[in-house]
Amino acid sequence: MKIAVVGAGAMGCLFGGKLSALAEVWLIDPWAEHVAALQAKGLLLRELDGGEHTLRVRAVGEPSQVPGTVDLALIFVKSHQTEWAARQAVAILARDGFTLTLQNGIGNLEVIAGVVGAERALLGSTTQGATLLGAGQVRHAGAGPTYLAAPPNLKSRVEEIAKLFQAAGFEAHLADNVDNLVWGKLIVNVGINALTAILRVPNGALADLPAARALLERAVVEAVAVVQAKKITLPYENPVERVVGVARATAANRSSMLQDVLRGAPTEIGVINGAIVREGERVGVPTPVNQMVTDLVRAIEAGYSVRV
Ligand code: NAD
Repeated sequence: MKIAVVGAGAMGCLFGGKLSALAEVWLIDPWAEHVAALQAKGLLLRELDGGEHTLRVRAVGEPSQVPGTVDLALIFVKSHQTEWAARQAVAILARDGFTLTLQNGIGNLEVIAGVVGAERALLGSTTQGATLLGAGQVRHAGAGPTYLAAPPNLKSRVEEIAKLFQAAGFEAHLADNVDNLVWGKLIVNVGINALTAILRVPNGALADLPAARALLERAVVEAVAVVQAKKITLPYENPVERVVGVARATAANRSSMLQDVLRGAPTEIGVINGAIVREGERVGVPTPVNQMVTDLVRAIEAGYSVRV
């Protein structure tokens, strides 16, 4: 199987790096310094146990540098680059090739499908985690299962991907319907990401500070009303307890949205709290808390250049 990873940031490098030993994998990324480091020195991967090693990878800045076509394009950009990534992918996708997104949030699949066609756009959800340490350097930050949606007509092809992921060391399973898992992860992100970014606190503060926890609860309860209206069953019983539990279990972590805000980068607010607002409108559930949280993060992004 020939694979392109579009968006070779933390997750793209983790998956692309480990898959490179088993398949012809091309990492495509617009960050020139990162691509140059990957080409010159390979990918320095710090494993979960702290051990480090260097993996040989094929890295390029754009799809025109990939010879021929690919069977699979893994989309691993942040959501504001998803349409760009889908355009990069479609330029080199074989006629019977397809894309797979394991990005967080709701809405990336639709954007990709709009470019490559719904029949060529696959969805999954992963509990793997990774952090960029610098150009050409990634830390594997957490391991857990990855679920891949398997439409009946593509089951054997998705099985092939799952086997490849397994061989590369990623626990992988097929799922008839990954919506509950995607939404289950979304609700956790809804409660944690934007609030940590707005308040500039590590995850644990949302559990420890009563005023912050109250905001978390209001955002989550509202989002769960949207989930219920959509008749999606979450993979856990008590959503607020679950989100507070994750905040506690990851107490020292800076959420990805907080990291984005601290470095003045675009956030994924539109596919997280923003998705709750959009989906709420579709099903007639009011979402004023998530609207306000979304508006605040949008205003923070707009103010990067004049920040005090
Ligand atoms: P990332 O921020 O590491 O990389 C995304 C893009 O930003 C890449 O093109 C990367 O090259 C670029 N970039 C990053 N730092 C840069 C810098 N300093 N200068 C210039 N460019 C830079 O993104 P990620 O964490 O791999 O996330 C990709 C997708 O996967 C997102 O949708 C995210 O929500 C999802 N996801 C992430 C994790 C995780 O643990 N990181 C886990 C599950 C899902």
